[in-house]
Amino acid sequence: EELPADSEQSNEIRQVKNACFSYVLPKKTSNPKLIHASIEVGNLIGLDANDLKSDTFLKIFSGNELLPNSKPFSMCYAGHQFGNWAGQLGDGRAINLAEVENKGKFYTLQLKGAGKTPYSRTADGLAVLRSSIREYLCAEAMFHLGVPTTRSLSLILSGDEVLRDMLYDGHPEYEKGAIVCRVAPSFIRFGSFEMLTARNELKNLKQLVDFTIKYYYPEITGNTKTDYISFFKKIANKTLDMILEWQRVGFVHGVMNTDNMSIHGLTIDYGPYGWLDNYDPNWTPNTTDRQHKRYRFGNQPNVAQWNLYQLANAIFPLVNDAAPLEAILESFQKDFQVKYNNMMLSKIGIFSTKETNSILIDYLEHNLQLSETDMTIFFRKLSTISLKDTAIEALEKIKLAFYNPSEIQQNILETWLEWFSQYLERLNVESLSDEGRKTKMNLINPKYVLRNYMAQMSIDLANKDNFSLIDELYQLLRKPYDEQPKNEKWFAKRPDWARSKVGCSM
Ligand code: AMP
Ligand code: MG
Ligand code: MG
Repeated sequence: EELPADSEQSNEIRQVKNACFSYVLPKKTSNPKLIHASIEVGNLIGLDANDLKSDTFLKIFSGNELLPNSKPFSMCYAGHQFGNWAGQLGDGRAINLAEVENKGKFYTLQLKGAGKTPYSRTADGLAVLRSSIREYLCAEAMFHLGVPTTRSLSLILSGDEVLRDMLYDGHPEYEKGAIVCRVAPSFIRFGSFEMLTARNELKNLKQLVDFTIKYYYPEITGNTKTDYISFFKKIANKTLDMILEWQRVGFVHGVMNTDNMSIHGLTIDYGPYGWLDNYDPNWTPNTTDRQHKRYRFGNQPNVAQWNLYQLANAIFPLVNDAAPLEAILESFQKDFQVKYNNMMLSKIGIFSTKETNSILIDYLEHNLQLSETDMTIFFRKLSTISLKDTAIEALEKIKLAFYNPSEIQQNILETWLEWFSQYLERLNVESLSDEGRKTKMNLINPKYVLRNYMAQMSIDLANKDNFSLIDELYQLLRKPYDEQPKNEKWFAKRPDWARSKVGCSM
């Protein structure tokens, strides 16, 4: 109500000027069925387990019924996609049902896949079951890993068919449609600000910035140039911390366009994301980005900074002074380097005096790429090493991480033994016992992540109406740092059949 609304109220596709959002109505679904709902997320917004099973819940979160006194809306935003200005994008298949306040916190409930909006451009506003399962599970897995993210409330089958790929013979291929309800303080993105500045709607820009500060950065109390600079600084810090967490757990977002960058530093929009199996900074899950690999794992910090640059440009008219914004952007890189090195040192169990150089980490990253080495298994197994181990004994303890153990000989063996010698020497300067170090490391290095093949297995079953693996993975990933002996089968390298499998977005 405090932001400018589109004067037109319809789902008709159009350019929406002089507004931050448009009132819309979700599309009715023919035969909705609840696949899964998160009790934890329900609790956040004041719902209990029984509420989630109710008919009313199904009706509301499938888009068939509106919450009392609610006015659903889709937001207008723009963005830079793959480095290029893309103009108006907006919530093409997302509809905000309502904003809820519970225990002093704000939550926006957003349906994804509930039909066309003014921002759908050439697409249908729908989502298929496979991409909805991937988003639903991954957001919750990320949350429990300690990575800032939007949450998932519900996963509902629409009962409608969605047209996706055209087969090579021109015959249409239909897939099951689904709707996810995701939850975040808001879904305001970098692109929300870019849109207004690009259209020179500076009054609206100021209104959106002031609104965002008032509700989501209330520690900033004024609306002067200095306040806007500290607003930008806070967003830069949150973004930095989010990327640091992605690098810690091996998450690759895959579409870090500025329209997919949350103003809260939350991971948002789980499309063609993926998890590193073997440690490879050049890997991207996005098949449309295989040539330039802009959004590869190792480039995420750079892209985040580039995206922040676009945000700085967007709020520039309110600041009118480039120097302080540039200083923040420059320190992003330096701060990231320092924090990254400390984070990686903690992954290998070095917690005391932090190195001012990154030799041990650089060397490790080099070795991890000599022969395919599973990232999750390597770091998890590393905690079992003892101060008394020789380099050979230590290497033996992580060998499960190698995809091709027979390759680990001669040069590769030598360089690994050299790294372990240096590492063990360094560990012996630490004050922690083997047990103490192991406990701390196991809270940093997850045992279970949502590997691409795991999500794919749950999708294949779901397409045959078997949703059991969705719940199994959901439960597993609620405790990613626990040993969970009964679930040891998920502590395994990617199987061969999944080697070239990648995430799919639409
Ligand atoms: P993404 O790359 O998923 O972040 O999407 C980029 C833009 O395309 C956003 O404006 C989305 O809302 C829009 N979009 C993606 N998929 C669809 C769809 N199936 N229907 C309508 N709009 C879509
Ligand atoms: Mg998006
Ligand atoms: Mg998307």
